[in-house]
Amino acid sequence: MLEMLRNIVQRVNAAESLEEALKIIVTRVRDAMGTQVCSVYLRDPATNRLVFRATEGLNKNQIGLLSLAHNEGLVGLVATREEPVNLDNASEHPHFQLLSGIGEEPFHAFLGVPIIHHKIVLGVLVVQQAQRRRFDESDEAFLVTMSAQLAGVIAHAQVTGSIQEEYTDATASPQGSTRVTGIGGSPGVAVGQVAVVSPVADLYAVPKKQTNDRRAELRSFKQALEAVRNDVRAVAANLADQLNAEDRALFDVYLSILDDSTIGAEVAALIKAGNWAQGALSQVMIEHIRHFEQMEHSYLRERAVDVKDLGTRVLSYLQVDAHDKRDYSDRVVLVGEELTASMLGEVPRENLVGLISVRGSGNSHVAILARAMGIPTLMGAVDLPYTRLEGKTVIIDGYNGVVHLNPSTMLLERFEELIEQEAALSKDLESLRDVDCETADGHRIPLFVNTGLMADVAISLDRGAEGVGLYRTEVPFLMQERFPSEEEQRQLYRQQLEAFAPKAVTMRTLDIGGDKALPYFPIEEANPFLGWRGLRVTLDHPEIFLAQVRAMMKANVGLGNLRIMLPMVSNMSELQEALDLVERCYQELLQEGHELGERPPVGVMVEVPAAVYQARALARKVDFLSVGSNDLTQYLLAVDRNNARVADLYHAYHPAVIQALRIVAESGKAEGKPVSICGELAGDPGASVLLAAMGYDTLSMNSISLPKVKKALRSVLLDDARNLLEEVVVMDHSEQIQGALGAFLSERGMQQFVPVSLDEAVGPIS
Ligand code: PEP
Ligand code: MG
Repeated sequence: MLEMLRNIVQRVNAAESLEEALKIIVTRVRDAMGTQVCSVYLRDPATNRLVFRATEGLNKNQIGLLSLAHNEGLVGLVATREEPVNLDNASEHPHFQLLSGIGEEPFHAFLGVPIIHHKIVLGVLVVQQAQRRRFDESDEAFLVTMSAQLAGVIAHAQVTGSIQEEYTDATASPQGSTRVTGIGGSPGVAVGQVAVVSPVADLYAVPKKQTNDRRAELRSFKQALEAVRNDVRAVAANLADQLNAEDRALFDVYLSILDDSTIGAEVAALIKAGNWAQGALSQVMIEHIRHFEQMEHSYLRERAVDVKDLGTRVLSYLQVDAHDKRDYSDRVVLVGEELTASMLGEVPRENLVGLISVRGSGNSHVAILARAMGIPTLMGAVDLPYTRLEGKTVIIDGYNGVVHLNPSTMLLERFEELIEQEAALSKDLESLRDVDCETADGHRIPLFVNTGLMADVAISLDRGAEGVGLYRTEVPFLMQERFPSEEEQRQLYRQQLEAFAPKAVTMRTLDIGGDKALPYFPIEEANPFLGWRGLRVTLDHPEIFLAQVRAMMKANVGLGNLRIMLPMVSNMSELQEALDLVERCYQELLQEGHELGERPPVGVMVEVPAAVYQARALARKVDFLSVGSNDLTQYLLAVDRNNARVADLYHAYHPAVIQALRIVAESGKAEGKPVSICGELAGDPGASVLLAAMGYDTLSMNSISLPKVKKALRSVLLDDARNLLEEVVVMDHSEQIQGALGAFLSERGMQQFVPVSLDEAVGPIS
């Protein structure tokens, strides 16, 4: 049973279009269950009707023509109830409605199950049989399992399908757009044309694209084919003396696979039909690989590997050729399966407006870079059929972690307006650069920045940063191929400290683990966010911790602006152990003759719920506290901060988060220790008002958000902020809190800082 399920899902997954996917579903499910009919009805989001989309056993002429209201007939009943309906004689059920022309009169037994993806009913899967009998429990269980597994595949195919159907003239499309969600990797909005970066020579990741120069594509293909043939001949010649005749024959097989009259002819035909060479090659090779993989004979099955290898070689040549010729539009949105930092260099900076990575998280290399460069970015867009997007116009909303495909004219206009507003706003905010951050009644709240790269320094200072609240030391570690030595670290840290001196720079000790893996220090765990991360790793490896703290202290000589911060502290013993090591470094360096000055302040990050409740005890032991609201929210709500599937549950304004933040602020105050916050929440203008009211002494954020937060805080009275806080702390829902902050900002003329859901602003989007 499991094998059968897996097999069907795999085949549906490999389908080229939604139509093909549905056809496979109805044929295979009917065979697997031994029924006479299997049909799929899909909900049309525009009309909310259930459209008859595929069948095996009923009248195929009605496909696409016949539809039911969302609550009409038995199919409607399944969709509205969102549960299976299993009947031995459908026509006796009060909801039964005979659909004319579909040919279901002879069939009595009916089993329908809803197809649900992320709480939304996509459609209904139905099997029918002439015999009057109730489908048994195992039939029902099979169909429910099948439908649950297929829902994701259908949702994906629908996005792909809507792109193919509607993307013909994107800007003129009267329909709504298709949206795909991910995780916001870097804030901001952008409109641009997609350039897909394929991983080097991966036949399965080649974007679909039409060509307007078939001759040139054909020429490139022929050259690439000839180049691989020459390579094969050269290898054969090199190995000639070492191989027997039988083995040498293998190379003849390779050459025949690459022959102009076989695969070569098929690829050429697709190019002549308008496909670009890489797409034509990938389509033909995948077809042949699949064919070989399905062969009975194991020897022939193994030839699939050879075919794939040859196809990949031809593709490499084509890619090199295409790279040399590539022309970028003025506004490029770079899209890839897994974008890497080096891929950013492919597009001239002035043309690059946005980034989308299908895999990866907010902590990925590329997202860190994007934030430093101020490029709106979407990460983890797992449902994005990116290979079909080459050249298409898309909208990235890095605030809400959404990409809009096939955008309607109205949506495009709305976003263009927003981009203009943002540009005008940042011009306006430039004048705030040199003024202090204080509330309208003079309460000072210095704004710090979060950094990781040297590239962050200039932009941070340019935006008026008063210090660094979080220097993520793991970022330079991620760029290396081994742990940097103490001296290498010293030089790096010195650059940061010098660039900001005399402003404070808070250096966090290495925070790896979770989703931040060093390529040269892999950590394999079933549950990495609850595993070996942050301080837990470095306490187990004191040699790494000691080298790092020594490097920081040595870098601080003569400057005196270093603060040291410890991540992921979850109990007092860990803290004590770390403090002892810091003290040991200090004493040893003094003994070695370094002129260290005073011991740098040491602080703790509060990012584990346990630390919230022990904040006073922690504060007693250290010089400052700093809340890591990204992790704190993830752990309080048990929602993975990098999982797009649960992103709608990651509520930065969750009442529990607000309560926790308040406890930490009060604990710090009670112990007379300054409290800061360095998670993303600090960069949210509305939240910054609440944080000021709670008594946070400094806020640390990405430099892009800094001017907005300054503007917000300078526009409010601290007493008003405190009243707002009193209102908010008794609210039970995140949405209420978000609404109250929005209203507060709007009343003070700052509606542009209200994080509206842009979907609301433009009406429903299908
Ligand atoms: C946090 O968790 O809020 C934080 C600032 O640290 P990081 O995002 O690097 O985990
Ligand atoms: Mg953290």
